[in-house]
Amino acid sequence: MITNFDQLELAPELLRAIKDQGYTQPTPIQAMAIPEALAGKDVLGRAQTGTGKTAAFMLPTLHRLNGGEGLRALVLCPTRELAIQVAESATEYAKHLELWVGVIYGGTSVQKDLRDLKAGFDVLVATPGRLIDHLERGNVDLSQLEVLVLDEADRMLDMGFRPQINEILRHCPRKRQTLFFSATLPNDVKSLAYDSLRDPVSVEAAPSMTTADGVEQFVYLVDQKKKTGLLLELLARPGMDSVIVFTRTKVGADRLIGKLHAAGVSATVMHGDRGMKERVQALDDFRDGKARVLIATDVAQRGLDVEGISHVINYDVPNEPDSYVHRVGRTARAGQTGEAITLMSPGEIGELRAIEHHIGRELPRIEVEGYTFGAMPEDAKVPTKAEKKAVRSTRGFRMGSRAGKELSPEELEAILRVG
Ligand code: AMP
Repeated sequence: MITNFDQLELAPELLRAIKDQGYTQPTPIQAMAIPEALAGKDVLGRAQTGTGKTAAFMLPTLHRLNGGEGLRALVLCPTRELAIQVAESATEYAKHLELWVGVIYGGTSVQKDLRDLKAGFDVLVATPGRLIDHLERGNVDLSQLEVLVLDEADRMLDMGFRPQINEILRHCPRKRQTLFFSATLPNDVKSLAYDSLRDPVSVEAAPSMTTADGVEQFVYLVDQKKKTGLLLELLARPGMDSVIVFTRTKVGADRLIGKLHAAGVSATVMHGDRGMKERVQALDDFRDGKARVLIATDVAQRGLDVEGISHVINYDVPNEPDSYVHRVGRTARAGQTGEAITLMSPGEIGELRAIEHHIGRELPRIEVEGYTFGAMPEDAKVPTKAEKKAVRSTRGFRMGSRAGKELSPEELEAILRVG
């Protein structure tokens, strides 16, 4: 394993720039991805922001371009903020080289882009929509492209950029190096990886520790109208000894407590509209085991410190990824194990994807007959038996399909090959 930048065969000018940045040693994703990219391989990198992924794709790209001329590298980013950030980092890394980095994104004057584009760049960082504008007007020529980078591919797809990316891919030479980075790998991202990468090497940054170890997390796919029914069924299962159920709203919490009581479940409720005395009482009842279930809103959970919670159930998918992490952190404290269950209706897929992006991994989906929704979004596809079998042979990656077509084990192996 590489522990020092000097062990990477990077141009001395790049090593100098790295030193200027104050980096002393490569991050794990850099140590894994840079040698492969320098060897000319396509890379499928699974990494979130903060792992050093930008340098992981930028350093080998600049090394490759060094000494040549013309637009030879394109980095696609989902947002203008990320594009600017990537371009700034790239400019820093390239500062001792004769290489120029440009950036274009929506919401600014096309005329200004045009002046910049005429100046000639070696590396262009762009958001997909604005780049398409320029490609259509003939302002950008990608025919000499050597390296294509897709950064935060999952977010680009969440933002609906797949058609634009397809169009951009059509403008890129087939013979090129592609570096593909994504925090999560749901089916649509795997499909894009399959379509854009050739015989890639797969590298993965250590999964983030944002959610407590020892918490098993699941997502139940459920019709919105059937959430209470499924909740009651879950609460009837063995081991549901001490359960916090989170709802998005106070009204939702009150409505739910009525239904639980009607079904004979011992439950209590805590939210911002309840007085201090009531809240303390609710918490005491829950702590003493008089109530097996505590219903709470996010506001109420602050400072909530209860030992031995067996399950956290999100009745609604939280709007804020941070809120998910906090809620899940209520269980499995101090080395205990616990389980976190999120009930997701079809309308909440966007919130779920944001959470998965934040925690850097996908959560397993579960369906219960009689409760799940009919037409499932592509994302929610459950793996077939064959896919599940293939999972075990590819280091725990979940299986995918593309455009409804099942990938053969060989195709999957090609996408997910671990280098
Ligand atoms: P990124 O994940 O690319 O957004 O990078 C996150 C932050 O880590 C940025 O501020 C980088 O400047 C910084 N960084 C990248 N590589 C290293 C490294 N090898 N050592 C220290 N900091 C780094």
